[in-house]
Amino acid sequence: MEIVFATNNANKISEIQSILGSEYNVIGLKAAGINIDIPEPHDTLRDNALEKARTIYQLTNKDCFSEDTGLEIDALHGEPGVRSARYAGDESDNEKNIDLVLSKLNGVENRKARFRTVICLIQDGNQFYFEGGCEGKIIHERKGQQGFGYDAIFQPDGNNKTFGEMNTNEKNAFSHRKKAVAKMIQYLKNSHAC
Ligand code: IMP
Repeated sequence: MEIVFATNNANKISEIQSILGSEYNVIGLKAAGINIDIPEPHDTLRDNALEKARTIYQLTNKDCFSEDTGLEIDALHGEPGVRSARYAGDESDNEKNIDLVLSKLNGVENRKARFRTVICLIQDGNQFYFEGGCEGKIIHERKGQQGFGYDAIFQPDGNNKTFGEMNTNEKNAFSHRKKAVAKMIQYLKNSHAC
């Protein structure tokens, strides 16, 4: 079954394709012939996810989903949160974002943080939300070349590797996105069983 994923982030598409398995063909915006940059103007992950999914549903009239993810750092009062993509400025730049986080946490002992993902699925015009989180900490310097975004500085609880040192399968054992997608899959399976 084909489902449109409202993103141009190739890492996210392959992560989610690996979670959904061969029953679903996840196509990103480019493959769906959509060439737009959807804004994320809202103060919550949920509202941004809805905006993205709604925009794509209106353009394609196909079932689709979007997700919005934020890194919430306790010592920074939940920052960068909904502003994770553009924390260091308007242009999304992973390296600058990481540098800013590390400099703000310089000398800070409490490194506790979490990733939180909200998925918005639009199915037959109706919207559904699924959420997943991953608790962990921000380490003091980058480790690992894999993944994307803040992966190189985030170490999930229960493991001594960062996400940047994990391959996709290892990351999926902990990942916020995996947990949210698992809930969506459960929902999709139940809704198709009817
Ligand atoms: P968005 O959900 O695409 O808006 O992502 C927000 C920001 O969080 C971007 O800077 C991403 O690179 C980052 N991000 C999202 N998911 C992850 C992840 O799984 N690991 C590391 N960074 C992530």
